[in-house]
Amino acid sequence: MKHYDVVIVGAGAGGGIAAGVLANAGKSVLLLERGRPLSFEDVGRDHLRSMRFSRYGVNAGPDLDGVPRVFVEQDGATRIVGPLDGGYHNLAACVGSGTRVYGGQAWRFMPQDFRMASIYGTPAGSSLADWPITYDDLAPFYERVEWEVGVSADCARMSHLPEYHRQYPMEPLPMTRRANRFEQAAQGLNWRTTRVPLLINSKPYGGKPACIHCQHCVGYACPVDAKNGTQSTVIPRAIASGRCTLVTGAMTEKINVDASGRASGVTFHDRDGVRQEVGADVVVAAGGAIETARLLLNSASSREPLGLGNANGQVGRSLQGHYYAGCVGLFEDDIWDGVGPGACIGTCEFNHGNDGIIGGGLLADDFIATPISAWNGMLPPDLPRWGLEAKQWMRKNYRRVADIRGPVHEIPSPECRVTVDTGVRDRFGIPAAKLSGFAHEETVRTANFMDARAREWLLAAGAVDVWGGGHGRYLSGGQHQAGTCRMGDDPHTSVVDASCRVHGHDNVYLADGSVHVTNGGFNPVLTIMALAWRTAEGIAAAW
Ligand SMILES: Cc1cc2nc3c(=O)[nH]c(=O)nc-3n(C[C@H](O)[C@H](O)[C@H](O)COP(=O)(O)OP(=O)(O)OC[C@H]3O[C@@H](n4cnc5c(N)ncnc54)[C@H](O)[C@@H]3O)c2cc1C
Ligand code: SF4
Repeated sequence: MKHYDVVIVGAGAGGGIAAGVLANAGKSVLLLERGRPLSFEDVGRDHLRSMRFSRYGVNAGPDLDGVPRVFVEQDGATRIVGPLDGGYHNLAACVGSGTRVYGGQAWRFMPQDFRMASIYGTPAGSSLADWPITYDDLAPFYERVEWEVGVSADCARMSHLPEYHRQYPMEPLPMTRRANRFEQAAQGLNWRTTRVPLLINSKPYGGKPACIHCQHCVGYACPVDAKNGTQSTVIPRAIASGRCTLVTGAMTEKINVDASGRASGVTFHDRDGVRQEVGADVVVAAGGAIETARLLLNSASSREPLGLGNANGQVGRSLQGHYYAGCVGLFEDDIWDGVGPGACIGTCEFNHGNDGIIGGGLLADDFIATPISAWNGMLPPDLPRWGLEAKQWMRKNYRRVADIRGPVHEIPSPECRVTVDTGVRDRFGIPAAKLSGFAHEETVRTANFMDARAREWLLAAGAVDVWGGGHGRYLSGGQHQAGTCRMGDDPHTSVVDASCRVHGHDNVYLADGSVHVTNGGFNPVLTIMALAWRTAEGIAAAW
């Protein structure tokens, strides 16, 4: 049996960072990824088949067959779902995972985001808690990711955060026509704005070119590779070190542990369907919040029959993604100039300090919407979705609509859960993830509050009509999924400790969004990467 210093499960945001740091630290690393590397052509430019509009197909995985999940409706009814169903809560499956096709918004969380329970208390029925680490613990790792992976922004305008020690490596991307309009409107409202930080090159950086402002950023791969994901930065650098082996098409079935709880390695199915075992001194799970929880639950042993790290029933709980609040505005003139990537200006005025609201959220202009995405999400509610009237509306108004949106700080609920269903199995016979629960009512209140702020901003910018907003309760855990194996000092209320080591397992660590205690009012990837960096440095120092 082959043996490595470290086996990492999942070559996405967190796993890719961990591979880079550990290989650079001199460790032999095996990086196992169930998906495959996707070229620009593989991802394609099909507006009907993307990670933003996936009704007819996804372009960054997983394959549609043999990967079922079970979704539990609010009335308790269950149904088996595939990646095209909203109930699946899909995040990509390929080398780089979401970072292959993401928009690359690169927000740091705020210091308050790590201390939610101290600031707001713990609402009944929620699992709101403080993180065992602070913003200051993570700040140096945010900076490292910003420089090593590559972020464009202006730290002088991040006035919602403590002062940065170092400027970003690249200036922000150019302002668009609509961003100029929103910036002026915000000044009128007396709201401070920030430039949206992006994991996109505004100038040649890291051996890759600058953005050419095409209109296909989010949901697609970049035609010139100006977007910085782990597949195009840290993973190739790890492989170039000669110490990291990437095996794709490798679905990890379980983490193998001995009677004392020490992991000996993992069992996986290779791309030919052959079951293999590898040994490791340390195992790092980084499969994303849903699949990491599934892996731990499927790694039950006689010592922990409920799953690895699950002696206290915490694995899989507090699944959270992001409610995305916001509204669409219709303008009298062409507000849209088609300059990509689009996300350009944001405000953090409402992330905290809102009377009677727990937390808050970010509002920003969004990435450029393809016509089908606009058709799907930006049309006025009373417009027919077919026929001449709808077509004429699109012809006249596609360039005159703009939306203001952003992620809302979710109040985690322990009933939002990933469990496994042994009656439903994937193509390898591994029990499927079962997703259940719906968001805490405070999340809905925050989202409705943020809708109203988006409406205000659009009207101040001159919108002649505004629509959208309004939220019910539903499970949220798709592209921004987090929280199923949270950090904490107490094993009764958390799964990993402050170094992201699974309680009771000296040599098992997690390095993905699953460890987030709360998911901030910001897109989460920079925090996932920073935390993975910190975890990997900790492993390198301890092993
Ligand atoms: C279209 C889109 C746009 C987005 N835009 C933004 C944005 O602008 N800003 C932002 O902050 N975030 C954005 N995100 C979200 C961001 O990509 C995710 O938050 C991030 O990728 C999650 O990181 P992770 O390490 O937790 O999991 P992932 O990056 O999903 O990595 C998990 C990897 O593990 C693999 N895996 C899982 N289980 C196994 C197993 N058992 N064996 C082997 N491999 C396994 C998966 O295939 C996957 O590749 C976007 C996502 C999408 C899809
Ligand atoms: S907008 Fe820029 S970064 Fe985004 S895909 Fe197009 S060229 Fe690449």
